Amino acid sequence: MTQPSDVQVRALVLTQSEDKQVTATLRDDLTVNDLPEGEVLVSVEASSLNYKDGLAVLGRPGVVRKYPMVPGIDLAGSVIGSSDTRFKMGDAVLLTGWGVGEGHWGGYATHARVKADWLTQRPAGMDARKAMALGTAGFTAMMAVMALEDHGLTPDMGEVVVTGASGGVGSVAVALLAQAGWTVVASTGRTGEEDYLKALGAHEIVPRSLLSDLKRPLEKERFAAGIDSVGGTTLAGLLAATKRAGAVAACGLAQSAELHTSVMPFILRGVALLGIDSVMCPPERRERAWARLNSDAPQVLFQEGVHEYPLSEVQTLAEQILAGQVRGRTVIIP
Ligand code: NDP
Repeated sequence: MTQPSDVQVRALVLTQSEDKQVTATLRDDLTVNDLPEGEVLVSVEASSLNYKDGLAVLGRPGVVRKYPMVPGIDLAGSVIGSSDTRFKMGDAVLLTGWGVGEGHWGGYATHARVKADWLTQRPAGMDARKAMALGTAGFTAMMAVMALEDHGLTPDMGEVVVTGASGGVGSVAVALLAQAGWTVVASTGRTGEEDYLKALGAHEIVPRSLLSDLKRPLEKERFAAGIDSVGGTTLAGLLAATKRAGAVAACGLAQSAELHTSVMPFILRGVALLGIDSVMCPPERRERAWARLNSDAPQVLFQEGVHEYPLSEVQTLAEQILAGQVRGRTVIIP
């Protein structure tokens, strides 16, 4: 199947000036000929807003590797052209990671041309909007849950804490863990989100300071497990308060990329720090995680924690997510 060449494309395009200023422009004068090389042409039905997209759109260093760039680190849609036999016209697909929206044009566009190896078939019954209501953040949360399970942790071992709980990764993690039977403690800096987090299944809401104020190498043992999306002093405090043989899945840096801690939790309590990388996750594990999301993500997540916006709102939303003001998940409709 060849790829059509005369299809019009609308996209948010980032450009960088000589003095390194990044500008985002909504363009509707492009065609698929302007898209980068790739075996599969996808009609994008939805993308989403992740913390990394906020960094990219506002021109913060460390995300976009070349300009011009179409941001959007994830997308879901239908195949409308493919030179790879694994994909045919009409296939329902999704994509997260692989450097899309960073080094290769991403999901903030009506169309994307991508490598066949990067695409995942959407699970049966999961439409594009639902896939992106979960998106990179939801996929990362599921990878973190799977990492805790693979480590042998089960709900009967005690409480699990989720940091950055009102954010994208945090919200999905709270809902997935509660659904799996865990007693979930939600750590948040937003006092106004208590009802939301309880609706997702949180048992108790604690302020951010509960963990970030812990300064000793070993604190009173409390949590059997943790999913951390903020890093910094919060992750250091969480490690010190994790019970013997427990584990913490670390996936983010919303507070800080730094981690100043001691080896004491590791060598005296056998605590494990499990790193989560959703970008280069191998295909088989991706498929497993998306199948789990399809069967396990509770309905309340989609009712309470998801909002949809057009491409024209992305700039404003980028500012809000970096300010920690976005609740749950934001779907972008191109
Ligand atoms: P969100 O902005 O939606 O969530 C982050 C949350 O962190 C906020 O909602 C807020 O939650 C909390 N937070 C924000 N600022 C601070 C602060 N200064 N101190 C403490 N807590 C803070 O982002 P995402 O959920 O999309 O991403 C979360 C993190 O995970 C990001 O760092 C992102 O880069 C990373 N990530 C990593 C992936 C991987 O593959 N490892 C994949 C996806 C995301 P609250 O108000 O409830 O405290």
